[in-house]
Amino acid sequence: MKQYDLAIVGAGMLGLSHALAAARKGLNVLVLEADRQAEGASIRNFGMFLPMGMPEGDSYHRAMHSREILVPLLREIGLWSDPSGSLTVAHHDDEMQVLSEFCKRTAHGRHHCQLLNRLQILERCPSLNPEGVVGGLFSDTEITLNPRLLIPALTRYLRQQHGVDFRFGHRVTDIRLPEVQTTREVFRTSHVVVCTGAGFDSLYPDVHERHLSRCKLQMLRTAPQPDGVRLPAMMITGLSLAHYQAFAGCPSIGQLQHRLAKDYQQYLDYGIHILHAQHNDGSVLIGDSHEYDEQISPFHKAQIEQLILAGSRDVLNLPTSVLMERWTGYYAKAKTGHCFQREISPGILLVNGVGGTGMTTGLALAVDGLNDFLNG
Ligand SMILES: Cc1cc2nc3c(=O)[nH]c(=O)nc-3n(C[C@H](O)[C@H](O)[C@H](O)COP(=O)(O)OP(=O)(O)OC[C@H]3O[C@@H](n4cnc5c(N)ncnc54)[C@H](O)[C@@H]3O)c2cc1C
Repeated sequence: MKQYDLAIVGAGMLGLSHALAAARKGLNVLVLEADRQAEGASIRNFGMFLPMGMPEGDSYHRAMHSREILVPLLREIGLWSDPSGSLTVAHHDDEMQVLSEFCKRTAHGRHHCQLLNRLQILERCPSLNPEGVVGGLFSDTEITLNPRLLIPALTRYLRQQHGVDFRFGHRVTDIRLPEVQTTREVFRTSHVVVCTGAGFDSLYPDVHERHLSRCKLQMLRTAPQPDGVRLPAMMITGLSLAHYQAFAGCPSIGQLQHRLAKDYQQYLDYGIHILHAQHNDGSVLIGDSHEYDEQISPFHKAQIEQLILAGSRDVLNLPTSVLMERWTGYYAKAKTGHCFQREISPGILLVNGVGGTGMTTGLALAVDGLNDFLNG
């Protein structure tokens, strides 16, 4: 039986990020995935690589470190991405005020941000619905990815370029080092990293449940926009200022939250904020909502979809709003801090709970986490 240095449970973004970091260290790596292909949060997401949304400190630095890993990796794999940054549209003076405070902070060390007045933002984005637009913010660090391409391409790359072994359709049921038991086979390894995402109750359920919440998100995708119409960047709106921790330190955020609570109560009840990302085929992903733990039902809520579509129409006049797909995604979110990492017993590391930031921070999180785990 082949002996591995590291077995990874889960072939989502966190599992693949750990596989990449370990393979680059020269380790013999095996990835075990329950499904026939990774079908979790990592391919259901927007593909917004979004450092701007990260709070100051570890998360932001992780995002920027991930960017240093991601950009050459995309080049090496030869994969589509759109590095055109993000545009945040303000429809109220209080949103503009928060953006301006954020911009002042970023002038001291964070990435490049530029405030735009109404005319400037309308000029940049002809698809904007001009009604009520006050101005906005451009940030240049964001990259739009297509996760449906990225995850399979990264899997292929790891297999072909780094000799990483993958076993799909292998749900891990028990780990007793040096053995890892799946529903089909037993494998031998000296270390295991467990990245089971929202399926965290499949292994170490008690530990995971103490530290993680589950979040359900609803998403929509339009048909490809006709005549080559493209958004100039991923599009973010005022509701996101209340959602992303990056803005929590802005002095006027409380005032903005107060107004949003009055004007957008239904949106806030479902954790909705309005985001748009356009992929290489011209389709636009629109989302999303956030329902947690006991709020979660097995069903897709029509009301959430209507709110998201109404919010989207307030922001953009897309040439086509015909929908091709609607789906739900689930992720795990740490109850405290940016993520949950714990060496549960010698040689077994749990990594989970990155919430809505896994595509943005996963690559660097794996590098840092593995260094501590393997050297510790
Ligand atoms: C709708 C949506 C939109 C999002 N948008 C963004 C975004 O724009 N930008 C961003 O940075 N982040 C975004 N996120 C968050 C991001 O997708 C997640 O943080 C990230 O994908 C988590 O990766 P993961 O590997 O932990 O989980 P997953 O991708 O869910 O992977 C976990 C894998 O583990 C497997 N597994 C579970 N149990 C076992 C077992 N016992 N044995 C074997 N395999 C097992 C599962 O089958 C699954 O494939 C979004 C998430 C969602 C749902």
